[in-house]
Amino acid sequence: MEIRNCRKCGKMFNYITGPQVCQSCKEAAEKKFQEVKDYVRDHKTASIPDICKDCGVEPKQVQQWIREERLIFADDSPVKISCEICGKQISTGRYCAQCKRDTAAGISEAAKRPDSGSSKMNLASNSHKMHTFNN
Ligand SMILES: [Zn+2]
Ligand SMILES: [Zn+2]
Repeated sequence: MEIRNCRKCGKMFNYITGPQVCQSCKEAAEKKFQEVKDYVRDHKTASIPDICKDCGVEPKQVQQWIREERLIFADDSPVKISCEICGKQISTGRYCAQCKRDTAAGISEAAKRPDSGSSKMNLASNSHKMHTFNN
């Protein structure tokens, strides 16, 4: 058993796994999440500042829920965050559909070519697979 301080309230608690917050803070965050989820369902055009003001949460917390794909907004919602790769506006998750596809393709491509060397530099200089980087 491990005793740690809760990152939110500073209280000592028995740490098991996951985020370093105590049980009561975890429950409070979960209750908040349900509240925000209900709020977003009832206020489809609410922006992040609206959500923060009416539910009393931090914008950072709301964005984290969006990144975790726990909070999903309607297509006509003004709430948008940016893709972590190209910066395009998206409504949930971390990457836009295009980058998601590119990342998945990149991973499977690398897995298929164990003979192409372990580094990206080797891959780029590989003669039978010319890459053009005209992004
Ligand atoms: Zn706590
Ligand atoms: Zn993107």
